[in-house]
Amino acid sequence: MHHRHRLLALGATASLAGTFLLAPVTIGSAAGAPNPNDPAKMAQAVRTAAVMDHLEQFQAIADAHDGNRGAGTSGYEASAEYVEQTLQAAGYETERQYFDFDYFEVVSSSLVADGTEFDQAVMSYSPSTPDGGVTAALVSPAVVTGCEVSDWDGIDATGKIAVIQRGTCAFSVKSTVAKEVGAAAAVIYNNADGALNGTLGGPGDYVPTTGITKADGAALLTHATATLDIQTVSEPKTTFNILAETAQGRDDNVVMLGAHLDGVHDGPGINDNGTGSAAILETAVQLAKANKLNNTVRFAWWGAEELGLLGSEHYVSQLDEAGLAQIATYLNFDMVGSPNHIIGVYDADESTYEASVDVPKGSAETEAVLTGWFDSQDQPWVDTPFSGRSDYAPFIAAGVPSSGLFTGGDGVKTEEQAVMFGGTAGVTYDQNYNTPADDIHNVNPVALGTMSDAIAAATILLAQDTSAINGKRSYGRSGVPARQQEIVIEGVVHTLR
Ligand SMILES: [Zn+2]
Repeated sequence: MHHRHRLLALGATASLAGTFLLAPVTIGSAAGAPNPNDPAKMAQAVRTAAVMDHLEQFQAIADAHDGNRGAGTSGYEASAEYVEQTLQAAGYETERQYFDFDYFEVVSSSLVADGTEFDQAVMSYSPSTPDGGVTAALVSPAVVTGCEVSDWDGIDATGKIAVIQRGTCAFSVKSTVAKEVGAAAAVIYNNADGALNGTLGGPGDYVPTTGITKADGAALLTHATATLDIQTVSEPKTTFNILAETAQGRDDNVVMLGAHLDGVHDGPGINDNGTGSAAILETAVQLAKANKLNNTVRFAWWGAEELGLLGSEHYVSQLDEAGLAQIATYLNFDMVGSPNHIIGVYDADESTYEASVDVPKGSAETEAVLTGWFDSQDQPWVDTPFSGRSDYAPFIAAGVPSSGLFTGGDGVKTEEQAVMFGGTAGVTYDQNYNTPADDIHNVNPVALGTMSDAIAAATILLAQDTSAINGKRSYGRSGVPARQQEIVIEGVVHTLR
């Protein structure tokens, strides 16, 4: 991590040489420049139009790069360069943190039986069939879930397409067992309504494997043979996170904001998660104009979130105990412009939802910064589960306080939420979630503006004071508001403003 020159830190340490006390302490921005150093001003400085401009750029990048910005693609690289250039123009140094991951992409796939094509979703990390696919008899295990080799006792699966029911064990186990009994490929059908989008979890010794609905499973088994053609690319690749932080603020009390920059391979990824990426980018740009920051604010754009939170996991894994202890709180922003939105806050205090993970101390106070802002604006909000289903998971697993904002994904809007936020009850928050239609038209600018304001306000509040979260006060005395804090150098009291 690079650290840029710090005015306050320099003052505190270099003063013993004497020069500090002779020179006037100049902390502030150039005359006439905006100085968004309170929550309302900061929220105003982060304009929705500017956030939308960043989204337009992400859309243009996806358009120029095979329609996506997925990890390991040129669309990700171009997105990263845009973020870096925008940050550098605002005065930040940026850092790329590289890590290895298992790249996977479906090039093409089809499942056809007697001229009928079935909708299917290739499981992540499935190997390819031979060119032209596998044409073979369909066969089911004696025990329909096919989790053990013995489930296939008495059945000859050699060279055939195994048709297996979801449940009891992981998809990877079913595929491995199918291979062990000699099957050429596997089709796994759902045991509940809905499409089956599965993953084998990583590269392994599998047969080509795809998923279909429960109804299609029953329909497929009325046929004797089928042709399954799956062409995939699976290979080790390298990708990276982007990190940048403020020059101002103490090193040992870092407020961290993160959003995943990668999208799925199936679309431009504008709501998920161009929105979070753009909102923290514009917050960083405007924060660079603020002064009197007591705490360092560090921004992260995570890579390979869609493949399993890989970037944030790598980042946290590289922190030692001291590095972890420096992070006062981590705020996560993943989907903050959903078309049929809610204004959701991760329910760290478990006032609505019991969390499925351990909630670090200080998380409830982090949530309160966000909800407090909304309350101050008479903006309705709702809790969303503190589930760990995004890049805050590695942080909370390491005990770092956390919260975040969410406008909804594949959940369904309730009547009550439609009254609070408008939109349509009974419809998912984002009907285009993880599809090619998650484009620039798939964003509600009002929701995005509301969330961007909250991100901006929370950032400046926490940049000034995290004491409610971790008890750490900046240079001032206990109870003195951050903007009027004082520093004592060689017995002389300086007011930091
Ligand atoms: Zn996401």
